[in-house]
Amino acid sequence: MDLLEYMGKEVFAAYGIPVSDGRICTTPDEVHAAAKEIGGQVVVKAQVQVGGRGKAGGIKLANDPDEARAHGDAILGMDIKGHTVERVWVEAATDIAKEYYASVTLDRRNGLPMYMVSAQGGVDIEEVADREPEAILKAHVDPLTGFKGFHAHYLTKTLDPEARAGAAEILEKMFTVFMEGDCSLVEINPLVLTPDGRVHALDAKVSVDDNALFRHPDYLAYRDILTTDPQEKIAKEKGIAYVKLDGSVGIMGNGAGLVMSTLDLVKLAGGAAANFLDVGGGASGEQIAAGLEIVLSDPKVRSVLVNIFGGIVRCDLVAQGILDALTRVELKVPMVVRLDGTNAEEGRRILQEASLDGVEAATTMWEAAELATQRASA
Ligand code: GDP
Ligand code: MN
Repeated sequence: MDLLEYMGKEVFAAYGIPVSDGRICTTPDEVHAAAKEIGGQVVVKAQVQVGGRGKAGGIKLANDPDEARAHGDAILGMDIKGHTVERVWVEAATDIAKEYYASVTLDRRNGLPMYMVSAQGGVDIEEVADREPEAILKAHVDPLTGFKGFHAHYLTKTLDPEARAGAAEILEKMFTVFMEGDCSLVEINPLVLTPDGRVHALDAKVSVDDNALFRHPDYLAYRDILTTDPQEKIAKEKGIAYVKLDGSVGIMGNGAGLVMSTLDLVKLAGGAAANFLDVGGGASGEQIAAGLEIVLSDPKVRSVLVNIFGGIVRCDLVAQGILDALTRVELKVPMVVRLDGTNAEEGRRILQEASLDGVEAATTMWEAAELATQRASA
């Protein structure tokens, strides 16, 4: 999960990395109030999960609250690389003497956290890497020994002498953010030196490993803010793997491989899947019901295809889960169910005896895909 800049800065502040005083705003009036409270020159910054906001016009300096409001008005609602700006971060403007780059990432090849530091910051770091790779200093840090003075000494020697001590402190704190937060990336671009000699994080990019989110309540709260899609929200709460797609055939299956091949077959049958939904190999009846509720609550869905192979999960429990779900949500679209594997016959019998309107059984995946596609276009 990629945190928004303001979230990253909240994390930085908690770890003692210097950031500017700022406020998060969703309306131009809030921007005006924030600018007034902060006082002096401010920066209005679009909060979207992509880089290059500056070049896209999503970052603007304002000399007074009225100007800030006007920038807020222009930036809120703006589309930046496919992301709509719903929030802006308003912070006290910083005087910049120098812009540097600093990051910690996970170097998977070496299996170690790796720092990259450059005196050429503010710009796209890939550009620097292409043009002048020697301008980026790299160092691996062993988590067992931690970030040491020699790492700081080596990495900061590329920076201006007056920035080295401040930068070294920030680099050390970045390591704590990285390790304690189960991060895959902690990046500051630009890390700036001010004319009065302070070193300061002007941007923040923090990516947290989704699989470790359960042990970070603060980051889970950020995830709730970042997940705006209602179906994705429920799926995350229930621990169901769900990805929204563009089509009209709602899909639910158990096991990522089975669901992927179901998507392929629907495509082959001339249809288009509305989603990927994997309730998991050992799904309970409760999970099945939750999964079905998610699929059925998407207004784009014109038909539903349930494809379950009973391995660990028993098909009779799946059938029961489907019945449970249908007592909670109304089935407004046709549903095709294919059950195979453990207790498949029993499962089919349960569904048949319930004689549900709009529910059809299919014996093979292909038959199910064709039928669901036909029903979606009917
Ligand atoms: P990005 O374009 O998405 O990476 O957004 P950044 O937060 O890195 O901002 C882009 C650029 O805007 C920075 O490299 C700075 O040159 C400029 N900028 C951002 N904040 C300030 C500020 O407080 N003062 C000044 N003078 N420039 C700023
Ligand atoms: Mn940046």
